[in-house]
Amino acid sequence: MSAPILNPDTPEIAYRGDALCVEDTTLAHIAASVGTPFYAYSANAIERQYRRFGAAFAGRPARLCYSVKANSNLSVIATLARLGAGADVVSEGEFHRALAAGIPGNRIVFSGIGKTEAELAFAVAHDVYQVNVESREELEALSAVAHRAGRTVAVAIRVNPDVDARTHHKITTGKKENKFGIDLAHAPDVFAEAASLPGIALKGLAVHIGSQLTALGPFEIAFSRVIELFRVLAARGVRLERLDFGGGIGIRYRDETPPTIEEYAGVIRQMTRGLDVELAFEPGRYIVGNAGVLATRVLYMKEGVTRRFVIVDAAMNDLLRPALYDAWHEIVPAHASKSVGQAVTQSVVGPVCETGDAFALDRLLPPFRAGDLMAILSAGAYGAVMSSSYNTRPPAAEVLVRGGEFAVIRERPSYDELLARDRMAPWLAGR
Ligand SMILES: *Cc1c(COP(=O)(O)O)cnc(C)c1O
Repeated sequence: MSAPILNPDTPEIAYRGDALCVEDTTLAHIAASVGTPFYAYSANAIERQYRRFGAAFAGRPARLCYSVKANSNLSVIATLARLGAGADVVSEGEFHRALAAGIPGNRIVFSGIGKTEAELAFAVAHDVYQVNVESREELEALSAVAHRAGRTVAVAIRVNPDVDARTHHKITTGKKENKFGIDLAHAPDVFAEAASLPGIALKGLAVHIGSQLTALGPFEIAFSRVIELFRVLAARGVRLERLDFGGGIGIRYRDETPPTIEEYAGVIRQMTRGLDVELAFEPGRYIVGNAGVLATRVLYMKEGVTRRFVIVDAAMNDLLRPALYDAWHEIVPAHASKSVGQAVTQSVVGPVCETGDAFALDRLLPPFRAGDLMAILSAGAYGAVMSSSYNTRPPAAEVLVRGGEFAVIRERPSYDELLARDRMAPWLAGR
């Protein structure tokens, strides 16, 4: 009997004999001590992806700012901070996380279309490396905040290059009808205004056209438009020193064939040849996506009229991607011997009272039985960060594995903790 090969991009998550392991630790071992459901991440996989991204740009000044929203657990950020990573944050909350994990403000890029005045003030007070500004109105607000603090803040203007990223419509961000960035035609005016505003140091251009891109074409179109604008501005005497190319490079969930990071870097090296600029990148999914699994246990097998349901103890409140984006995640048993025998068409669903609460519908899977442990793969990015306590379910715990060691890096909250911030209205209290 040979165990199935899992994602070839992530050798850290594989069968050893019969047992599915994250590095040298079996999922069954973690489950026995932590209970299910839980996320497990491979520290080595995270580090390998980060190093590989950096190595692809060796010799070219390139700043890697990990996009914290993909997985904002403090231990995950700290794993990358130790390698010298910067951070890309989209809220003051993420800014706090990056700082707490050891990334100083001067390595943090602040992105997002709706930063409040308080958030901008926090960033300025913490020596933010760069604020990616997404509208003229935000630019004016930032100028006022910086001026009041007696500071000057480094700014990149995020442009919207009107490119179809050819990814899921809910994670496309660079089309003109999307809410992100300033359209290319208006960008020169915004630059002219920025030059006259106090407290603003114009440093660069930023672009991010979407997530889970599996082709280079849309990147090339977007970057060439940004570089063209860079040259137009230079001809008008606006000297910029930074180009921030955002994140978005896709990973393999099923049978996608995203470009390798070396191919992606090759295109960018070519396009920026001769430009005297620092490059910046904001990868999220690429770093952590395939480094994590969601482990869950089968509660019941239910024979429906037309479907065989595998009811598991994880649900859409733990991993929202299938419900939100119709996302595909591979599902495998924690014991390879389970996959021996006839695969059966099954639907893997969670306990939440929503029809959308399904991890797989009518999929050929090994014959599961009640009590079996299974892993939902490629769950390291946009997994735990989107979890909620919908149905008053404690969100899954998170575990970080390094070799034969593992640590709980976020506990499953207790029911008391889940209820703790509710307050009884005074007219209901008492009896
Ligand atoms: C979400 C986001 C990223 C990261 O995207 P990935 O697809 O996870 O690499 C980078 N930059 C910005 C501005 C983002 O909003």
